[in-house]
Amino acid sequence: MKEEEWENLCKKCGKCCFEKLEFDDGTIYYTATPCKYLDISTRHCKIYPKRFKIYPECVKLTSRLVETLPWLPSDCAYKNELHKREEETEKE
Ligand code: SF4
Repeated sequence: MKEEEWENLCKKCGKCCFEKLEFDDGTIYYTATPCKYLDISTRHCKIYPKRFKIYPECVKLTSRLVETLPWLPSDCAYKNELHKREEETEKE
């Protein structure tokens, strides 16, 4: 999949752009505190094209990372895409 196609999978829900807490037992708690660059009315990043330059803490979601990050919401479009790929592989 090309970079642009991968990027376009994101449904821009902004759920991953809120601060999260991870407890010792692995439980993830999503706080109501958004990233300072998230427009909370549109749920879009205000600096998206330059986000990694302006805010290096922002995580670039590669397919490998999506597989391992415990804090992405279960309805994240990237997680759904990987799940779909896994199902297709199992059918083969
Ligand atoms: S949770 Fe997933 S689909 Fe929603 S904004 Fe984040 S990366 Fe995109």
